[in-house]
Amino acid sequence: MEELWFSIKSGLSRISCYKRRNRIYRYGLPIVLIIFDLLIIRYFPPAYLLFIRADTVDLLLLLFIVTVSAWFGGFGPGILATIITAVLNYYVLLLADLAIHPLIGDQLVTVIYIVLGFIISMISEARYQSEAQKNQFIGLVAHELKNPLSSIKGFSELIDNLAKKSHLSKLREYTSIIEYQSEKLMELIDDLLDITKVEVGKFEYKDEPFNFGDLVKEVVDHQKIIQKDRQITMSNRSRKIIMGDRYRIGQVVVNLLTNAFKYSPPDSKVKVRTSDQKGGVVLSVQDFGIGIPFSEQHTIFSQYYRTKSAEKGKAKGLGLGLYISSQIVEHHQGKLWVKSREGHGSTFSLELPSNRLNRRK
Ligand code: ADP
Repeated sequence: MEELWFSIKSGLSRISCYKRRNRIYRYGLPIVLIIFDLLIIRYFPPAYLLFIRADTVDLLLLLFIVTVSAWFGGFGPGILATIITAVLNYYVLLLADLAIHPLIGDQLVTVIYIVLGFIISMISEARYQSEAQKNQFIGLVAHELKNPLSSIKGFSELIDNLAKKSHLSKLREYTSIIEYQSEKLMELIDDLLDITKVEVGKFEYKDEPFNFGDLVKEVVDHQKIIQKDRQITMSNRSRKIIMGDRYRIGQVVVNLLTNAFKYSPPDSKVKVRTSDQKGGVVLSVQDFGIGIPFSEQHTIFSQYYRTKSAEKGKAKGLGLGLYISSQIVEHHQGKLWVKSREGHGSTFSLELPSNRLNRRK
């Protein structure tokens, strides 16, 4: 039940969250909705709805259009929808049967309607602006944190080199802790920077051909260096060249691998497999860790969601990695899914099409 409620909430916040939306969509939506409404009125005129009169149903429908337009597009589209629907309501619907509508009453209703539309549009714009400011702020703070952190990492590497030369093993132990923690902090900062970019629609992608299997191998080799004590096995059978943003796809692979390490015991294996399929390439990352209950398997791809067992455990996180990954995969017209059994482990799979290469040519 809790997961269902979370899915509803995150679905709603996804619809309403601030995105740098295209002007054509923002202003197009009210126009499409109004045309749709006119068609309904023309071909299926609303009858009495329980105890509500048909013209009140019309008015409520128009108000709904104003709300949706303002919510989706902000002040301008909200006002546009208000004006068009007010004119429509006054001249097309109310004046059609003047006999039962005193003129002064209609005018009053229209004025109230416009004021209401104005207020809805203002509130929506304010929400829009505060969301944009919040994103800007998070982006700025994350960016500012990166510089000092890079310098901490740099100096710790320097100390490590000196300690190596002087055979100070205890000091090297400390520098490796500094480096590990800085790496974790850098991952969190990168997630925050990425999420603000996703929110404002500034997440940019390159389009380049690359060998998927080689990329996965590179990531796995790098992880083997960082996670020295982990057992990682790899079966790399993918030879295909795919089209996309190599760096961003690499980011997805890193996320799946680091999660596999994070949510499984240190002495357990992590298996990575790649293969070529008819229309593309497939990667699977299998771990033998805490697993994910069936009821939460869908929700983990939402923003800020962490499973209850992950929250109880030591591994920290923001619940953003899989959301960002799913956005990247969606952009590449691929699929990302999980099969898991609680207490037994999880297998995350990623499928990317290779025919994007042909389509783009
Ligand atoms: P984070 O790991 O930073 O919390 P993610 O978005 O990467 O964020 O993952 C979301 C949640 O999905 C995690 O908090 C965890 O509950 C669950 N999860 C992800 N990968 C695994 C895994 N391999 N095994 C078990 N749970 C996982």
